[in-house]
Amino acid sequence: MAVDYNAFITEASIDGDDDGPLAGTTVAVKDNISTEGVATTCGSDMLADYVPPYSATVVERLTDAGARIVGKTNMDEFGMGTTTETSAFGPTRNPADPERVPGGSSGGSAAAVAAGEADVALGSDTGGSVRCPAAFCGVVGIKPTYGLVSRYGLVAYANSLEQIGPIAPTVAEAAAVLDVIAGPDPNDGTTRDPNATTDGDVSTDYAAAADGDVEGLTIGVPTELFDGADERVVETVEAAIDDLVAAGATTTTISLPSVEHAVEAYYVIAMSEASSNLARFDGVRYGHRAEADGNWNESFAATREEGFGAEVKRRILLGTYALSAGYHDEYYAKAQDARAWVRQDFEAAFETVDVIASPTMPVLPFELGESLEDPLRMYLADANTTPVNLANLPAISVPAGEADGLPVGLQLVGPAFEEATVIRAASAVEGE
Ligand code: GLN
Repeated sequence: MAVDYNAFITEASIDGDDDGPLAGTTVAVKDNISTEGVATTCGSDMLADYVPPYSATVVERLTDAGARIVGKTNMDEFGMGTTTETSAFGPTRNPADPERVPGGSSGGSAAAVAAGEADVALGSDTGGSVRCPAAFCGVVGIKPTYGLVSRYGLVAYANSLEQIGPIAPTVAEAAAVLDVIAGPDPNDGTTRDPNATTDGDVSTDYAAAADGDVEGLTIGVPTELFDGADERVVETVEAAIDDLVAAGATTTTISLPSVEHAVEAYYVIAMSEASSNLARFDGVRYGHRAEADGNWNESFAATREEGFGAEVKRRILLGTYALSAGYHDEYYAKAQDARAWVRQDFEAAFETVDVIASPTMPVLPFELGESLEDPLRMYLADANTTPVNLANLPAISVPAGEADGLPVGLQLVGPAFEEATVIRAASAVEGE
């Protein structure tokens, strides 16, 4: 019998138009992206019965382009996790090794693609949630520049950090999905037209960029994003970078000293934003409502006690603390300073290099259950992905090879709105 990876929370069929660039393509959509008439749970008991009255812009664009939505995928509760084990609907298994996690938080989307249960998928990436599961499941994931893809209809976790991004078996297929979902949206005031925002002419023809041509490309290799990573991961990623050099690219060692503080800054900012964004789940406006006598405060507390899982509660508490009077300057303001420093480090690096290469994840996929007891260990696994969200940059994770039979991802980061450059470089890795 085929293994049940538990990639989907809800199987559904939302038909697309008869023709279009994605006609006949099946898409799995992460369950924090709204689908009209189809449950959107965010992997939480809080929203187990929530059915949105409208679809996210990205879903509309996919169906207009001919794609068919085949279901809503499993995820860490509200996107909070790196393994898909904090879901209220049970963990997803990794098709590359069913005893291991698929990564997270978009683990269901990556597993659906890796197992062939959908042609392509959408995830959301707040601190790595598209790239991590892509790396762990051996598929491709793109985290777009902040503002390239509409967040209208995405249930917010940490809105200043996150973007919806495609997951697919190949770079070209992921790029084709990006072509359809990218571009300004009147319903999301943070979206931008890439060419109105950058000085130069940036290509927005993403699928065409997957041509494998890296002749003359300069790749920055930051020592900080290799230090401390698993040896087997480092060897696999270095071999993929060697392949790029053989194809005509050059490498240069660079330093990003600020990234040492990225995970701390990311978690303070993400938890602070989450504490505010998740305040709306009060049993009145949305979601689960506990049976509670007494006043509104008691009903609010009982609803949230029942509706949220442990990781979500931990983050709301820490985020509320970080924003509270007297601690705000100590934590939140410092984290914002660190964020500015990370952005400057990347800007300086891109004066001399075209893309920055590193392992996507510093570790191989965890065994199921392994990291749940140790949240700090789970947070530290985000060391290489979170700096990119702090700096609002585009990045891709592309399979670099395998170590001990497990997939390893290479992360390529580019300057703002230069998705085409990271797509081109990633497609050369695939060609090897
Ligand atoms: N693992 C990170 C977190 O738990 C990233 C999650 C995400 O990108 N949604 O916050």
